[in-house]
Amino acid sequence: MKEEIQKSQHYEIKIIDMGEGGEGIGKINDFTVFIPDVLLGDRVEVCLTKVKKSYGFGKMVRLIEPSPYRQEGKCVQEKECGGCQFQSLNYCKQLEWKRKKVENCLTRIGKIENVTVAPTLGMEEPYHYRNKAQYPIRMVDGKVEIGFFAPKSRRVIPVTDCCIQHPINSQIIQRVKDFLTQYEISIYNDESHRGLVRHLMIKTGYKAQDVMVCLVINGKHMPHSEALVESLKELPEIKSIVLNHHTDKTPVILGKDCTVLYGHESITEQIGDLKFKVSPLAFFQVNPTQTEVLYQKALDFAELTEDEIVWDAYCGIGTISLFLAQKAKKVYGVEIIPEAIENAKENAKLNGLTNTEFYAGKAEEIIPELYKKGVVADTIVVDPPRKGCDEKLLETLKVMAPQKIVYVSCDPATLARDLAYLTKEAGYSVEEVQPVDMFPHSAHIETIVKLSK
Ligand code: SAH
Repeated sequence: MKEEIQKSQHYEIKIIDMGEGGEGIGKINDFTVFIPDVLLGDRVEVCLTKVKKSYGFGKMVRLIEPSPYRQEGKCVQEKECGGCQFQSLNYCKQLEWKRKKVENCLTRIGKIENVTVAPTLGMEEPYHYRNKAQYPIRMVDGKVEIGFFAPKSRRVIPVTDCCIQHPINSQIIQRVKDFLTQYEISIYNDESHRGLVRHLMIKTGYKAQDVMVCLVINGKHMPHSEALVESLKELPEIKSIVLNHHTDKTPVILGKDCTVLYGHESITEQIGDLKFKVSPLAFFQVNPTQTEVLYQKALDFAELTEDEIVWDAYCGIGTISLFLAQKAKKVYGVEIIPEAIENAKENAKLNGLTNTEFYAGKAEEIIPELYKKGVVADTIVVDPPRKGCDEKLLETLKVMAPQKIVYVSCDPATLARDLAYLTKEAGYSVEEVQPVDMFPHSAHIETIVKLSK
């Protein structure tokens, strides 16, 4: 007789996989159980908290046998801030899991046959890699605290030293906290929407080690700002101190306007031989080391010979476009956010690249329009958001029929869906699939794929 699976009962489960959010996945016969705070390879005693027809949720009550892939996490606050789900999983295993995840999506969702997914390109030193941090500032038990929100809450967990952020951040946090406390500056409260200081954002240009400090305030002026500047200036890396004015009652972190308190209005980051202006509001990839690896792959996969016309769809501030422009005849970039297109144009100028043209608008509208007007492409690079490419864009790719398509994806499931269309409906074959680890210790995976006609 089949055992009936019941809520509140205890089961011994081996963790055989991990899900999107890093939760462990195990089985009781055919019944799938999702369990937070466990690792691939653990054998655990689980109490079921929710039971559905074919799956359920549980929590670990005892670690029976730890996974052989467990390692001492570097983070003292693991789990508290809700980030870095894989801290205690051996880095090699993280990379292998990411490769396997991409392979599973391509074969199961995309039904792509005979596909080889290359080993994930990881970091030599997978710590202190992020160039941007946004820390909420709130009063906790009568004290100013700067840190991260606890999962599903607005309570701030203080952060002193985060092992994926730049090491200078902890010194900046301390100085900002001292300043706010000493001068009794009012701190933002989510419920009343009162109080001045909301967030601390720190951006770093890794090549030059230039740092920008930005305080997000619920108002126009910051009292005693000269004292803050004096204190922060003592750290020679700090090249820019900015106020961001954000008076709306929304969980969005940044407002639209900034005032410079000290130094420059932006800092510069270098990826390969190219320089990019990083302003407080502009988007930039958060892992500069791996961004270079990813863009170099995009360039390799595009196999440019200096005669090609290239489209970069979903181009952001034109980073991939400019990388390609070093080798192509002409690069057209298209991006939905007009400010990003302005940045892209500035960045082209900054690097003396004159063979680029940028358009603000939806890729699925601009590319078909220009195609009708006679603009064709030898190669198209797409780097869409998580939801993948719009169907209209894929249909245009089919009729435009560029020789090569390079697909950069941050979600293997939508990548698989789009590759299914491109291979089965549009006559492309998948030549190479390369995962790149942009976010060590998280479940996120970046993949780059080369397709040809
Ligand atoms: N290639 C860039 C950015 C990739 S992120 C880089 O490497 O930095 C995806 C980008 O797609 C975002 O900048 C987002 O604003 C943009 N986007 C989202 N929907 C879009 C659409 N329908 N058409 C064009 N761009 C879009």
